[in-house]
Amino acid sequence: MKKINLSTFILYVLAKIFFLQSAFCQQNNENPFKKIQSIPETFQPISFSSIKPSGWLKKEIEKSLNGFTGHLDSLVPSLIVQDDIYGKDRLTKKVKSKDVGALGDEGDWKVQFLWWNSESQSNWWDGYIRSAILANNTYHLARIKNYIKRILSSQDADGYLGIYDKELRYKFDNENGELWSKTTLLRGLLAWYEYTKDKKILIAIERAVQNVIVNYPENNSHPFYSVKPDDGGLTHGLMFTDVLENLYRITKNKKYLDYCLFLYKDFSTQILNEDAQYKKLIDPNYKLNGHGVHTYEHLRAVAAAYYASGNKLLGDALNDFLNKIDQTTTVTGGPVGDEWIGRRKANETNTGYEYCSMQELMNSYEDLFLKTGKSKFGDKVEKLFFNAAQGSRDPNQYCIAYLKTDNSYYMTGGQNGDTTQKKQTRYSYSPVHQDAAVCCVPNAGRITPYYIQNMWMKDKDGLAASLLGPCNITVMVKRSKVSIEENTSYPYNYSIQFKIKINEPAAFTIKIRKPSWVNKFSVSGNYSKKDGFIIIHKIWKNNDVINLQFFPEPMVKKDLNNEYYFTCGALVLAHPIAATASITKDYPLKGFHDFQYRPDSLIVYQFINNTISKINFENKKTLEFTSTMFNPETKKNENIQLVPMGKTILREVSFAKKNMQ
Ligand SMILES: [Zn+2]
Repeated sequence: MKKINLSTFILYVLAKIFFLQSAFCQQNNENPFKKIQSIPETFQPISFSSIKPSGWLKKEIEKSLNGFTGHLDSLVPSLIVQDDIYGKDRLTKKVKSKDVGALGDEGDWKVQFLWWNSESQSNWWDGYIRSAILANNTYHLARIKNYIKRILSSQDADGYLGIYDKELRYKFDNENGELWSKTTLLRGLLAWYEYTKDKKILIAIERAVQNVIVNYPENNSHPFYSVKPDDGGLTHGLMFTDVLENLYRITKNKKYLDYCLFLYKDFSTQILNEDAQYKKLIDPNYKLNGHGVHTYEHLRAVAAAYYASGNKLLGDALNDFLNKIDQTTTVTGGPVGDEWIGRRKANETNTGYEYCSMQELMNSYEDLFLKTGKSKFGDKVEKLFFNAAQGSRDPNQYCIAYLKTDNSYYMTGGQNGDTTQKKQTRYSYSPVHQDAAVCCVPNAGRITPYYIQNMWMKDKDGLAASLLGPCNITVMVKRSKVSIEENTSYPYNYSIQFKIKINEPAAFTIKIRKPSWVNKFSVSGNYSKKDGFIIIHKIWKNNDVINLQFFPEPMVKKDLNNEYYFTCGALVLAHPIAATASITKDYPLKGFHDFQYRPDSLIVYQFINNTISKINFENKKTLEFTSTMFNPETKKNENIQLVPMGKTILREVSFAKKNMQ
């Protein structure tokens, strides 16, 4: 044996300890799914029953109920009414085909899409339930009550709520809709529970979730295993974290958070063509590529896993994900995906966005706002909702665009008049879009309710006006019942009045999000500013009022492709292009049609330079603006009008610099 002296021995021991320790730390650091300690969310949501829209938001909800959200079951009864997919028509090994609502050849259905009607139905019900509650519409509420009764009666003795019979459920090695069909269903049931506070509903939801936990045991099963890497319903199913997180918020039972972490871990470790897998997020060279709607909804699941684990590595991955998404959203907040992101950078003319993706990305930003308390996520929500989302709805008809671009020159089926794909119909307006898929219309019915329900949040100090706009709330703050009327036409004007009703004077804080574009504002009374919020702490008395005024200036900005665009406050502006509408399909219901739009005369204006193309208010009340741009047809500079892009159909949003030749 070789002799070693004492000091060498001590050095050896120290080195060994150091090595073991660093190996241990490394192992710790390298396991992004290791639970450290869950992170509490900064804000808590207010109950869905405690907020009601007013002003233009109320009109939007009413229009939606009078339109496709209130009538989708009559417009496509075969998908919504006639297929009792959660009940007597549950899928069995014998079912080999069914009408899933895609008529075009791209909808060339395969067995894997047999879950599809569950999404169409449940996403539609989710938007419908929330809209009916927000509008307090007794006719619609009565219909929903019957639906809830029917769904609850479909629950098996072991708690199973879903679309598969006993021989199929939880036994998949491929595409399936097990978790996704439950996610979409249970989100709607959760809204109904918040409204009714009926314990029966909560028990049914918890039993359904427990049935999943028993059949896909945590860390001892692989719910996302698939022999093929391209999946639809399977990977949508990661959004079961929406249900789990909401259940945690209601029950405070941490098992739901732990299960979120397990789902994201299993999702990340399987071979799947999905952007939100951990290793892809942290790879700086990886560009988002997948089906847009998956990618943008999965942002919430990554956030859920990070907050459930408190593991910094997942926090870093979440930040990487957000940075990647910034590259794939246009200046109006439109998340690229027509339907695939395809490693592209956002482009206001060439990269279309899908209505489904808008709902999902907006909801992901709302969730991040709730979790982090960071005001910047409110800016992202408002940008997307006021601009891209409003700009994809037909302002005059009960219709939406399935796909849309910021610069929209034709809405005749293909992207900006493209006719190479003969069966492309997504760039047009419809109350159904059955030619492609009935996914976007149900989600278009969800987006306004999801905006409204996140307009106010709570924290330990009091209340926060997180997203701005007209609404009324009634909530309990520190044992006092407080009502606040938020009177405004925001974002279409810039004064907001908050009127407080309270029985007994009470001390608490009201925080009002100060949008990042606000440089100048006035507020009545004493306040402080912190982290993007205007903070008012005082003893509130009945009939107290806060008057808030923003003073926005029209701005010229540059997009990712060095084109120019204009904003005023939260609104992106557009030059509207006069268009002729043609009806391409009638529905048996009065007032419902598909529409295409062609420009009367298409001129794509060019930006001259900052001083000439500077934008001015023409009319502050109607939010009309003018600017001077170059007309390449007449070769002259012309004065053109600009308006909020959310109110337009055909339009130019971003302007390329004048070609100097
Ligand atoms: Zn869609």
